[in-house]
Amino acid sequence: MKNFFDLSFEELEELLAGLDPRPFRTAQVLRWVYTLGADDFRNMTDMPVSMRESLAGLCDLMPLREIERSETRDQTVKFLHILEDGEMIESVLIPEDGHNTLCISTQSGCNMSCAFCETGRNPGGRNLTTGEILAQIVYAIRHSGDRLNVRNLVFMGMGEPLLNLESLQPALEVILSDRGLNFSPRRVTVSTCGWVPGIIRLATEGPDVNLAVSLNATDDKTRSKIMPVNRQYPIGSLMDAVGRFPLKARSRITFEYVLIEGVNDTQEDVLRLQKLLKGLPAKVNLIPCNENFSGFRAPSEEKARAFQDSLYDYGVLATMRKSRGQEIGAACGQLKAGSARKQHD
Ligand code: SAH
Repeated sequence: MKNFFDLSFEELEELLAGLDPRPFRTAQVLRWVYTLGADDFRNMTDMPVSMRESLAGLCDLMPLREIERSETRDQTVKFLHILEDGEMIESVLIPEDGHNTLCISTQSGCNMSCAFCETGRNPGGRNLTTGEILAQIVYAIRHSGDRLNVRNLVFMGMGEPLLNLESLQPALEVILSDRGLNFSPRRVTVSTCGWVPGIIRLATEGPDVNLAVSLNATDDKTRSKIMPVNRQYPIGSLMDAVGRFPLKARSRITFEYVLIEGVNDTQEDVLRLQKLLKGLPAKVNLIPCNENFSGFRAPSEEKARAFQDSLYDYGVLATMRKSRGQEIGAACGQLKAGSARKQHD
């Protein structure tokens, strides 16, 4: 059966036209699915029963199967889903100031091999389809009861989003469309390890969303060591591409910076970082490294604070990510990794 969320609006129109020629049917179905969160065609009470039955036989409104869920005391919820072919992906719902941020995956693994990242530990996996990307969002919305309970969408789950633009761009169209999920572009952030051709393509083709760049180091030697992508696209080429990314008034590029003790947490790093960002509308999101197989650790809290304060002294806006959901391993790829380990034990 076809994943409903893999259908473009036009394809849905065509499919519905085969069942009922009246054009309002598409808007009706889209409203049930994206605004009201319907998970069964049979409940779409303003449509003829025969049409509902036909649709139920044609496409699947629940293409993800949740196989594990964990929740922390601060109510961060992490879902592990299994896809049709057995691949596993995760999404994380993070409560923040009365709203939720949803972190979703674009690939079921990652080949970028960042040294600190759990997802990259075992290369492999595949690109998700547009429908698999969208289904994660719809799933989390159903879980939280209302579309408006999910305020921000960040593509910071498993995988490198810009290596899957084929699926990402059509997904973003539905995410931003008022016929679809109707998110404001200001509330949607695509995060990249620095895949330069993807940054350029997103900049020229759109759609218009926020960009976050996982910088994580301030010199090429260190960055190439912890993020192999840097050997292909060093910091200079990355900053060049980022500098040409179109930004709306008052918006900024986010630079994520995983703080790793003894690797990228010195005062020299602060100095180089502020030089790199000079003249760019930027903000830095400091993320104390989650401990995992890599052996990397976060610096002490005082040292991390001092790093943040020094950036401030240079006029660089820097926030520190609270390590939410650490007890359930809500860092990139950790739930899937944990589950795989359990299966092997
Ligand atoms: N591939 C994309 C999105 C997925 S990673 C990217 O690289 O941006 C999302 C974020 O999690 C990145 O900023 C990455 O640097 C960070 N991350 C990965 N492993 C981490 C760890 N062990 N501790 C803290 N942050 C981590």
